[in-house]
Amino acid sequence: MRKILVTGALGQIGSELTTELRRVYGENNVIASGRRIKEGHEKLIESGPFEIVDITKGKDVSEIVKKHNVNTIINLAAILSAVGEKYPEQCWDINMNGLYNILEVAREENCMVYTPSSIAAFGPTTPPDNTPQDTIQRPTTMYGVTKVAGELLCDYYFKRFGVDTRGVRFPGLISYETLPGGGTTDYAVHIYYDALKNKKYTSFIGKDTKMDMMYMPDALDAIVDLMEADPAKLIHRNAFNVTAMSFDPEMLAASIKKVIPEFELDYEVDPVRQAIADTWPNSLDDSAAREEWGWNPKYDLDAMTKDMLDKLKIKLG
Ligand code: NAD
Repeated sequence: MRKILVTGALGQIGSELTTELRRVYGENNVIASGRRIKEGHEKLIESGPFEIVDITKGKDVSEIVKKHNVNTIINLAAILSAVGEKYPEQCWDINMNGLYNILEVAREENCMVYTPSSIAAFGPTTPPDNTPQDTIQRPTTMYGVTKVAGELLCDYYFKRFGVDTRGVRFPGLISYETLPGGGTTDYAVHIYYDALKNKKYTSFIGKDTKMDMMYMPDALDAIVDLMEADPAKLIHRNAFNVTAMSFDPEMLAASIKKVIPEFELDYEVDPVRQAIADTWPNSLDDSAAREEWGWNPKYDLDAMTKDMLDKLKIKLG
């Protein structure tokens, strides 16, 4: 029986993943945790065990793992790309020292560890189209540096200590439950809110900038399916390329216009986030994930747009 600790559980992924895991594995088998209580998450916090855990404090992580007999840690606590450029020191501390603490506790307490990497683990010298699973990774952001180093550290803990480490390289994730935490692909979430509220959106990412994206239900499947995959079939283990679609702001606007014909898009490009986006791939090759553990996303751009707008309409009232 799995006993799962989710770190960063009140973030964009964690707030939906925790609910899904509690449905699949049982409420009391999923321990949600965050650095602090956040307003608006009362329902999630009350739906099962919740602990305050800062992953930079290894002793605290260890105590919670022992207290709840945890055997699986899903480590979502992190600083994302745009915030990481603002606070590189904090980004290194949480993404690297925090991950190291998680892996050390996992080694001592015999836990599986799932840590997402990101398309940010690639850089300007990576082949941008149909980016291979195994390729050049020389990122130029602090976030990207921590993601490549994290991939390597997880590989090391598997090879050296036999810790069952797994993970995917997520593209930009789109969801309606919790707003994104300061990444470069956040425009693709904000655009839906503004489309419903104002019928127009000003994009901070430029017109022709294509990036990989995924709707949250597929991202949750990517976590549960890889976690449950037969280890004998995994050649890569950590850092599988996964994608569901690749689009630029114009393509996203065209999809929204099919539902809201009067929707208008204009641009006020943010040089910091544009510079980050320019170093990321246009589209990933995710064939290794498809072959090794059956990755198969369900939502394309138009299916996602329809569902996002339907769900947000209800949420925004
Ligand atoms: P998020 O920013 O929404 O949530 C992260 C959470 O971690 C926040 O609630 C934050 O308060 C918490 N946190 C920060 N420092 C902490 C610490 N020291 N101890 C405990 N908690 C701490 O991020 P997310 O979008 O949910 O991302 C989760 C993981 O997925 C990250 O590793 C991220 O790099 C990766 N990822 C996300 C995306 C995306 O589009 N959302 C894309 C690629 C990869």
